[in-house]
Amino acid sequence: MSRDDRDATRVVRAGLPPEEPYAPPLPGPVFAAHYHLPGDPHDAPYAYGRDANPTWTALERAVGALEAPAGVPGEQVHALAFASGMAAISAVLFSQVRPGEAVVLPSDGYNLLVPTRERLESLGVEVRTAPTGGDAQRELLDGARLLWIESPSNPGLDVCDVRALTDEAHARGALVAVDNTLATPLGQRPLELGADFSVASGTKALTGHGDLLLGYVACRDAALADAVRLWRKTVGAVPGPMEAWLAHRSLATLELRTRQQAAGALAVARALRELPGVTDVRHPGLPEDPSHPVAARQMRRYGCVVSFTLPDKGFAERFLAALRLVDDATSFGGVRSTAERRGRWGGDAVPEGFVRMSVGVEDPEDLVADLRHAVEHAAAQQG
Ligand SMILES: *Cc1c(COP(=O)(O)O)cnc(C)c1O
Repeated sequence: MSRDDRDATRVVRAGLPPEEPYAPPLPGPVFAAHYHLPGDPHDAPYAYGRDANPTWTALERAVGALEAPAGVPGEQVHALAFASGMAAISAVLFSQVRPGEAVVLPSDGYNLLVPTRERLESLGVEVRTAPTGGDAQRELLDGARLLWIESPSNPGLDVCDVRALTDEAHARGALVAVDNTLATPLGQRPLELGADFSVASGTKALTGHGDLLLGYVACRDAALADAVRLWRKTVGAVPGPMEAWLAHRSLATLELRTRQQAAGALAVARALRELPGVTDVRHPGLPEDPSHPVAARQMRRYGCVVSFTLPDKGFAERFLAALRLVDDATSFGGVRSTAERRGRWGGDAVPEGFVRMSVGVEDPEDLVADLRHAVEHAAAQQG
């Protein structure tokens, strides 16, 4: 049996401590600012709550096991939990890149990369950007310290060849970090594709219930992990024990959720392509999607996000208001479907009628019927 067939088994046990009579399989959250600390503190596993916490440790073991390349034991991957995805992203960028160095970012990545870019530049870091699609970042790698990849990109759902870009970056002496938020480690394993860091927001599909913020960094190199850990401790970007515990608890259903969400997203994307007024349907799992050939080589599951364009802002607003099973809300990856008109935020280069939908775990047939009804309703009200 290949490892890929065993994801459902791996997620329910990932990070659990060894069996102990009369102890719970997943120990509850440990709330502690400090720990009893006799004598020399240097080898103490737990001393102060900003540095380490047993509830984080269990979650970090789980994430390390899930992000580990095939054939690599989970213990060889260092995973660090953060207060949010942005805390994790900042930790990698600001612990690795110094003034005078260059970093290559995607021009179509998560929208907070824009203020992050401005902050890096104000500190004397050279920032170069290119779109995710077509591996365009490849042209900017000369002399760079770090390549930042977001594949699939959010919200445009373009995909780049992570292994090819990583090989090229490494040949030029650059480190590579991949934002793995959309795919989750069951959909894509950046460390297996050669990346130095897999970074993600655990707020989205990883934990899947829309009830917490979390982030993580996973890497194989102990020195890189130490630098990221020191950054976490210095800025104090630490998750609360309750969030860490809820996240670990939610991992047990990661395989079930992402399987159902990926199947639902494909069904929804296929149905949307047939609806009048709906254009530019994007989902990396759609065989017709420009991202699909590269996605099929490096992803095992294509995620829950589908994007599409409606004729205009008014149409999109009527459509969203008419949906009964899909909440008008931002974020993605949750068990309940959501959708939003992305242009309402400003900042993403998208048309006014552009909608990003996150497919939950509902029955795909019910979702398709709801979408069809909402498109018909929005078209009927067109004035
Ligand atoms: C949401 C998101 C982030 C930021 O994560 P937070 O947990 O909200 O800080 C980063 N990257 C991507 C691709 C995201 O979707």
